[in-house]
Amino acid sequence: MSPPSPTFTLLGTAQDGGVPQAGCACSNCTSAHLDDSRRRFPVAAGVADGAGGFHLIEATRALPDQLHVWAQAIDSSTPIIPTSVLLTHVHLGHVDGIGQFGNEAMGLTGLPLIASQAAIDALRSRGSIAAFEPRPILSGSTHRLTEDSRVTFEFVQVPHRDEESDTHAIIIRGPNSSILFLPDHDDWTQTLALHHVEDIRSWLEELRVDHALVDGTFWDSGELSGRDTEDVPHPPVALTLENLGERRGDDPEIHFIHLNHSNPLNEPESSERRHLESLGWKVAERGWSVNL
Ligand SMILES: [Zn+2]
Ligand SMILES: [Zn+2]
Repeated sequence: MSPPSPTFTLLGTAQDGGVPQAGCACSNCTSAHLDDSRRRFPVAAGVADGAGGFHLIEATRALPDQLHVWAQAIDSSTPIIPTSVLLTHVHLGHVDGIGQFGNEAMGLTGLPLIASQAAIDALRSRGSIAAFEPRPILSGSTHRLTEDSRVTFEFVQVPHRDEESDTHAIIIRGPNSSILFLPDHDDWTQTLALHHVEDIRSWLEELRVDHALVDGTFWDSGELSGRDTEDVPHPPVALTLENLGERRGDDPEIHFIHLNHSNPLNEPESSERRHLESLGWKVAERGWSVNL
């Protein structure tokens, strides 16, 4: 069988805790317990590179289900076995599936693990990378992970409470389209300053992406009752929308990912979601696929 054409597939759309989140009785979590379609897996993506490579971005605890979603999306009759794993950073939800590649489950060895040196060091200190062959990358570097593939991966640094390791966004480029994968960062002010640009639109233009999957963790700062959003900093979607305004003709398609369970965008009929969609932007859905 010839390999599938280069395809990006979104395998999860929630913040690290997923929806429902453990121990939560909020309306979004309650709905997710009652209705499978309201469940969200922690954020992850799969890239079939058209040359036999299958690259998993983030290793979450929903790995078995996510590999199944990936297979369905690209019409594979057998489950996808990743040929490499890429990580943006090492916060819990992005790496808590990493142990499933080893002896206790899939029994793989020598699987390339592509992440920054700091992220690899942090994982090594937790003793969880026996199945992998670490391949440290540098910020700003671009990688072709399979010979003859026309898909590349570029690591773009972003500020995000980097006490354990640094954090990157990943740009995936193929012959037909390109995607920015940016699940976590602290705020737009710092990210835009780091990249010497004035606003979100100019940055996306500079990155030359057709689709941007951006941090949509919280709708606004009032969302974490009893917990300070300073503890879990992310740019609120309401603020991102203020900066962006309405979608213009040559803007990339923006999908909000990494939704916290508390985010009203989880509710299909919420006024917040209607507002976002009326501006021409999207709330990410699992299984969304793009021909690269
Ligand atoms: Zn996260
Ligand atoms: Zn909840």
